[in-house]
This record gives sequence, C-alpha cells and structure tokens, in this order.
Amino acid sequence: MLSNVVTKTYVPDCSTASSFSTNTTIYRRRITLPRKTRALSLITNSSSVLHHQHHFSSVSLSKSILVGEEREFGGAMAGGGVFAEIIDVGDSTSVFKYYADGEWKKSSSGKSVAIVNPTTRKTQYKVQACTQEEVNKVMETAKAAQKSWAKTPLWRRAELLHKAAAILKDHKAPIAEALIKEIAKPAKDAVTEVVRSGDLISYCAEEGVRLLGEGAFLVSDSFPGNERTKYCLTSKIPLGVVLAIPPFNYPVNLAVSKIAPALIAGNSLVLKPPTQGAVSCLHMVHCFHLAGFPKGLISCITGKGSEIGDFLTMHPGVNCISFTGGDTGIAISKKAGMIPLQMELGGKDACIVLEDADLDLVASNIVKGGFSYSGQRCTAVKVVLVMESVADALVEKVKAKVAKLSVGPPEDDSDITPVVSESSANFIEGLVLDAKQKGATFCQEYKRDGNLIWPLLLDNVRPDMRIAWEEPFGPVLPVIRIGSVEEGIHHCNASNFGLQGCVFTKDINKAMLISDAMETGTVQINSAPARGPDHFPFQGIKDSGIGSQGITNSINMMTKVKTTVINLPTPSYTMG
Ligand code: NAP
Repeated sequence: MLSNVVTKTYVPDCSTASSFSTNTTIYRRRITLPRKTRALSLITNSSSVLHHQHHFSSVSLSKSILVGEEREFGGAMAGGGVFAEIIDVGDSTSVFKYYADGEWKKSSSGKSVAIVNPTTRKTQYKVQACTQEEVNKVMETAKAAQKSWAKTPLWRRAELLHKAAAILKDHKAPIAEALIKEIAKPAKDAVTEVVRSGDLISYCAEEGVRLLGEGAFLVSDSFPGNERTKYCLTSKIPLGVVLAIPPFNYPVNLAVSKIAPALIAGNSLVLKPPTQGAVSCLHMVHCFHLAGFPKGLISCITGKGSEIGDFLTMHPGVNCISFTGGDTGIAISKKAGMIPLQMELGGKDACIVLEDADLDLVASNIVKGGFSYSGQRCTAVKVVLVMESVADALVEKVKAKVAKLSVGPPEDDSDITPVVSESSANFIEGLVLDAKQKGATFCQEYKRDGNLIWPLLLDNVRPDMRIAWEEPFGPVLPVIRIGSVEEGIHHCNASNFGLQGCVFTKDINKAMLISDAMETGTVQINSAPARGPDHFPFQGIKDSGIGSQGITNSINMMTKVKTTVINLPTPSYTMG
C-alpha cells in the first residue's frame, strides 16, 4: 500500500511566516531520474521490503536499494551470503537472531522487535526480544570466557582484531545496506562508517599492544622517609565484563569504539545495540564471529532498551558500562552500581563567529557541521552565535549553501534524509513551532514529508526559544546574533551540555582565550565540531558525559592498574 503523507509548508524568504499551509503529497514508486530529481522522491518499494522479510534475496534488494551504486557496493546483501546464519527465515516473517556462546540463537520469548525503515515508515527488519534468563546466561558465559581471554597473549588478541577489521571491511556492502534501511544514513556515509570502523579496530589493536605491553617501575626512596627497600611493578589488567550500549546514529562505529578497546584489554563484551541499527550491529558482530574469537567472549542481546535496558545495566555480572546516547545515560549513571562508567551523551555544540572570521569558511562548516546526516550527530553544530556586524553576510552565505542541499532518500545519497523516527520528527517540529510562535526568522520554508524534514535555518533566535537550548537532532539550525564575544561564551556555558564547541577567527590569541573560556570537552578552532579522528580524545562535561573516549583513553578506561611490590630485607641501590 502506498501511503498518503501531509506536507506542512511555511512561507519562505527570511520573513516571519504567519501560518502553515497544508497540502497532500503521495509517495511514489521511484524510477531512475537524474540525481537531483531523484533526490526529491522517496523510495516506497514496499514489495521489496516485504520480499526482504521473506527471502533476503540479494537480487531483489540490490535493485530496490542501491540503484546506480551496485558496482561501488558490490557483494551480498544484508542477511545474505556469509550472513545467512544470522537470520531465522520463517514462513510468514524472518527475524534476525541474537548472538550468545558463539552461536546465533532464537529467543525463547518467541517475541520480536520491529525495526521501522525511517524512509518508508514500514517494518524493514525484526530482531529477537531477548529475555532476562538469556541475559543471565550471557553474563555467565561472558564471565567464564573472560577468564581465559585474559590469559591470551596480547599479540594473539591483536591478531584476531586485525582479522575482524579486515572481514568487516570486506563486507561493507551488506552492513551499509542495513544502515541505509534502518537509520536512513546516506549511502556513501553508510559505507564510510563501516570502513572507518574497520580502521578503528586495527588502530586499537596496535595501540593496545603498545599501551598494555608496558607498565611502570617505581622505587620507594623517592618518597620522604623511605629507603630503597621496595620495588613497585605496575601493569594494566582487564575489568571483566564490559557492557556496551551505542546509539542509533553511528551504531557500527560507536559499537566497535567500545568492543575493540574492551577486547584488546582482555575483557569480554556484551553488546546491546540500539533498536534502530540493531541489524547493522548484528552483521558487524558476525564479522567478529567469523574472525574466530572464543565462544562467549562477545555476545549481542537484542530487545528494546526500555524493556531490557535496566536489567542489563543493573546486572551484577557487569563490571563496566560504556554508553553513548541521550539522557538515558544520566538515568543509567544513577542506577548503575560501583563500576566504571564511560558516558558520551548529548550536546548543544555552539559555533562562535567573530567579526574577522573567513565567512566562506564559516558558512561551509556550518552547513557541513549542522546538516550532515540531517543534523543527527552528537557533534553537529547546534547553535550559531554570530557577531551582529557580520550576521547578515553570514546568513546569506549559509542560505545559498542550504539551497544546494539535496533532500530525499538515503539510497540516492541525498544530503538530507528522513530523520530516524516519527517521534523524532514530531519533536523537531515542536521546536520549530515554538520558534515560529516566538518570532524567529525562517530563512527557508518549513517543509516536512513523513519523517523527512527539509533543512531549515532559523535566524534571530532568542534565548526564550526552546531551540536556543534543546538538541533538535534534526536539520534545523538556530542563529543567535550576539553583541560581544562574552555574550557568546555566556550562552555556550549556560547550557547543560558541554560536548564540543567551535570558534571562527583569524586571531589565534583570541581563539585560545575563547577556547579556554568555553566549558566544553573540546573546542575546534576554525572548523566545525567533530568526533574523530577516532584516536583523538573525545569527551563531554556536565550533562554531556563522564570520562573520555578516543582509542587510547578507552583502553585505559577499560583496565585497572595492578601493582606488585617486591619488599627487600635491606635497602638496595643501583651501583651502590
Ligand atoms: P538513546 O535514546 O539514549 O538510546 C541510546 C541507547 O540506549 C540505545 O541503544 C537504546 O536502545 C538504549 N536504551 C534505551 N533505554 C535504555 C535503558 N533504560 N537502559 C539501557 N539502555 C537503554 O539515544 P539515541 O536516540 O539512540 O541517540 C541520540 C542521542 O545520542 C543524542 O542525544 C546524541 O547527542 C547522543 N549521542 C552522543 C554521542 C557522544 O559521543 N557524545 C554520540 C552519538 C550520539 P533502544 O534503541 O532499544 O531504545
């Protein structure tokens, strides 16, 4: 069935629009058109979606999903080829299995969780709704497997990780396809996410060998009152079972950024993937399976976070939680026991623009930073704080670039694709309506078609508007005009969030002072905020997180220091 959707339209042209006009658009079956034209038509080949549920035929999928991209993607499709064993193909419906004890299994619950394709708004995949008993079993096997993994030589751990990275990259096509279907990630970005994840695993293997291959040696006579009677040897030991919970927006990358450091450090790993993104994660986990990691060392429990999440995060078998997501992380940190937590949460990344900034550079960064993956990035530019004297010129430049963004389905590699869910789209619309009611200037018309929201720049936003403070996680970007740099810093620091921020100026001395004054985990000078390269430290302060990520920091975080002290009967001095 093709569905009708309502498009709400604001009057454009940087004036304060007065009302919605409503018209009805019908999704249409896609035909091959030039890229620009194609970008505006949403894919609704519902028959291929249903087909997928039944047979996972690579032929039917490649036609419906990767039009014009087959050669670049190549290979088997999601649930096909080497991935056939991760799915239970039933008569009426097919459900992806969960992974435990080195095997792909059906849950005894007999229940499944539907994953809705953000573009078609129809069920694309189903995953098992795991039970508490299955979680208990997974924790038991994870604990047992970790004991022998901790005795596995570092070089061997690294070797297996390198193998998993290579397998992951070899199978980028089906995993990218799942990302496109589950979270509407633009086609090329979906491939990039998988390749980047393989690189992260390899880098982590190498860093782990270096980092964990070294310890420290201390002597006692450096502290007052002591002679050299004690030699202290320090090394890093694993924590035990690490629970990894990534969010929907980078399900594969943010899962491996937890899995790889945990494993190289000698931990076992239980993954609870986001529901939207679960199938991509299951494919990724299968790459670790194919690499030959020991049974029980890695597990993947699927199910809704709201149903299984508390049981997992409060489970006594868990020795560390690495979580990336929204406010859920704050609740988890209050409930979790006395275990190390790594929390990477939301952000309201501010972009401060000074009078001397290169406005072309700023405009490019605002558009890339604010609208990539439709603004669904923790480090997206989420508020522009621009000096009044250059605001008109900057807004004009940004508007011109926004007009060139393609809007449409992820299969067409559109710049702006549907946001992850209807509730997310409704939330974004709520922020837009609030800004409208309070008098923001709309630089484009507000347009929505199902989960697809056209990019929107809101000028003259004031602090009494919700969009000035809240994270839309969508393609809507507020501009606040400021009279002084101090005003910009004040707005940035008044936020509950403190993930990243950026400042644009040609004066490096001013940039350094502003960076020091901004209460955020990272400040980018003359570039939009970004997570990565993946070995850079990455952290938020305030409600944006606990601890620091980045490969080296994650390995350190997932280990504990162990010391052995050799006590001598008499002082012993070298050459003494
Ligand atoms: P979310 O709703 O907080 O969900 C994140 C993960 O938590 C999902 O796997 C979710 O599973 C799970 N979950 C839900 N309830 C749970 C519970 N009670 N116990 C344990 N786990 C539970 O976040 P999201 O919508 O996926 O992602 C968007 C947010 O992530 C934004 O706020 C963004 O800024 C933030 N983010 C931060 C970073 C960073 O590094 N700072 C990076 C990316 C994203 P289900 O999907 O099954 O509900």
